[in-house]
Amino acid sequence: MSVTSNLALPLNADLHCHSAVSDGTLEPEALAARAHANGVQLWALTDHDEVGGQHRARQAALALGLPYLTGTEISVTFVDVTVHIVGLGFDADDAALQAGLAATRGGRRERAMDMSDGLAKVGIKGAFEGALQYVGNAELISRTHFARHLVESGVCRDTQEVFRKYLVEGKPGFVPHRWATLRNAVGWITGAGGMAVIAHPARYKFTANEEYALFSEFKAHGGRGVEVVTGSHSSADALRYADTAIEFDLLASRGSDFHSPGESHTDLGALPALPERLTPVWTALEDRIHRPS
Ligand code: AMP
Ligand code: MN
Ligand code: MN
Ligand code: MN
Repeated sequence: MSVTSNLALPLNADLHCHSAVSDGTLEPEALAARAHANGVQLWALTDHDEVGGQHRARQAALALGLPYLTGTEISVTFVDVTVHIVGLGFDADDAALQAGLAATRGGRRERAMDMSDGLAKVGIKGAFEGALQYVGNAELISRTHFARHLVESGVCRDTQEVFRKYLVEGKPGFVPHRWATLRNAVGWITGAGGMAVIAHPARYKFTANEEYALFSEFKAHGGRGVEVVTGSHSSADALRYADTAIEFDLLASRGSDFHSPGESHTDLGALPALPERLTPVWTALEDRIHRPS
């Protein structure tokens, strides 16, 4: 049987997760080991706006005999809503991609200081310094790090509660931010030889028209995939976006969005299969997969 037909069989692919290089808590090597132990057969580390962990993830995966695709998850602003675009199978050394990601990361520190000021106004002091204690990459301070600090310091019971009370739009620690454009994010990924994928579409609060615009423009810019089965989707969401994948002729992706053993409800590799009527993204990425020798 050829490799291509193997790839067409149900594969325990997990093409979305985070390390301490962005807002996960495990190092890339520990994630590779966890993915391997959980039976993942094709893995990608997709840190937010960052490819700094790619070399380590790939080395660790290949040493375990685990096929690897490069990955990232780019923050995008589309009609004033933050949308995430996953990139898979690109050249992580591509200069334009690296410059684009660096620019996207650029405003995070200032945003975090503004978030801290907002929290101070409701009596939560020193949140910036507190969040920094959880940051593994000085260029990548995220809301997740604030959430960990506010849980550990006893302000909230869990990270969900922190987001709900403090870190989403209209709450004291929320600071609007302008991320990359959809056109640029898709362009950086495809320009580096990779595939752009809309991450967890059910999470965005779009009207039907806005969502249609997102998918249409994404395709027009060269985007090719959509996450159907993800840790952020219910089974009803997966069915809904399976239809959307077919409607827009998009390949389907699958990823846990695992961040941390204590926080993430979906572990690496622990996802339902993609609906059979869909074509998985990895069937079109065969020549981009790094394989153990
Ligand atoms: P940022 O890029 O700094 O805006 O942070 C976004 C990250 O926050 C996401 O990638 C998730 O890891 C996390 N996040 C967003 N919303 C929630 C939520 N409701 N509960 C827990 N984590 C969340
Ligand atoms: Mn995250
Ligand atoms: Mn995301
Ligand atoms: Mn993610």
